[in-house]
Amino acid sequence: MKGNPRDYGFSTRAIHAGQDPEPTTGAVAVPIFQTSTYVHDEFGQHKGFEYARGENPTRAALEENIAALEGGFGATAYASGMAAVSALVTLLRSGEHVVASRDMYGGTFRYFSKVLDRYGIDFSYVDTTDLSALEAAMTPQTKMVYVETPTNPLMEITDLAGAAEITHAHGAVLAVDNTFLSPYLQRPLEHGADVVLHSATKFLNGHSDSLGGLLVAASKEHQEWFVFVQKSAGAILGPMDCFLILRGIKTLGVRMDRHESNAKAILELLADHPKVSTILYPGLPDHPGYEVQRRQASGFGGVLTFEVGSFEAAGAVLNKVQVLSLAESLGGVESLISHPASMTHASVPKENREKIGITDGLVRISVGIEDEADLVGDLRQALDAI
Ligand SMILES: *Cc1c(COP(=O)(O)O)cnc(C)c1O
Repeated sequence: MKGNPRDYGFSTRAIHAGQDPEPTTGAVAVPIFQTSTYVHDEFGQHKGFEYARGENPTRAALEENIAALEGGFGATAYASGMAAVSALVTLLRSGEHVVASRDMYGGTFRYFSKVLDRYGIDFSYVDTTDLSALEAAMTPQTKMVYVETPTNPLMEITDLAGAAEITHAHGAVLAVDNTFLSPYLQRPLEHGADVVLHSATKFLNGHSDSLGGLLVAASKEHQEWFVFVQKSAGAILGPMDCFLILRGIKTLGVRMDRHESNAKAILELLADHPKVSTILYPGLPDHPGYEVQRRQASGFGGVLTFEVGSFEAAGAVLNKVQVLSLAESLGGVESLISHPASMTHASVPKENREKIGITDGLVRISVGIEDEADLVGDLRQALDAI
């Protein structure tokens, strides 16, 4: 395309931003620049590429692409979502304090509580759906508020504009993990967040064939720091994975629509099934976050959680499914079913889990883009077997 992709709609940006045809050959797909170094034209003169930890054209394409989709100043790509988390927290110094959503990705909780704890950074885990609880947790040392919305697996919704106001009033940075909705459905920077984080492993890649992490910074200052950290700490995303994620993002819009319409069909089955008690999905009008979600996002996503009453009942469903696959992770074209208490959230102590509602009977589904009737039929036979 000619002109600035940022002037166009979401899917046009997804397909074109950062992806001008390659100048030597005109290749439409961004090539995989599988090189560690770049030759200099002559002494003291290079093309802007010196060494691949610092610069890689495939990575630069992905970074510009996600920055355009989230509406950020710039972005940096890392070897995994957790590597992006570890780059993010370099904004902090020892003695400082972070307020984080109490229900968050288990790996992030593990990193905060078992690794960063050793470096003199303090964490408070609060129910950020309650802005007064967030306000109450802020201290003079608080330099970051870390929010996931919706949370994993309880699908709790935090009011991003409200959280940004409180965070900024205390001179702190609001970082939002936007993995669950992707920029197609929610763009936290538009609501005042300072940094957006992605596990690109999930909906952005969308095909369960690579890991990746992204940080999108609203400000030049944060972007320059992340570029410096990326090069200095070195947890960069390799060119092959950048290529796969870029390819995945091209179809993000159509995939998200299908994830969500399949999720709606599954929700209808769950609502009518006698073995299912609670359903957690922010698109249900009785969900406590429904109104906030409608205000700050343009959809509800493809992940849902429900309660079948016991560890045994959850096990029966997970063993009975045929089309859905029993696996961790989410956001791929294939539907995945999992048991948060024993899988993704096993590193959260049982008492913490139960306090916040991650019970033994909770089942999570990342709804894929298979045929709706096949998914509904499969789940029905599995639930009937309880
Ligand atoms: C998977 C995930 C992460 C971690 O990403 P990796 O790519 O697995 O390192 C962080 N946050 C959320 C919400 C996730 O689902």
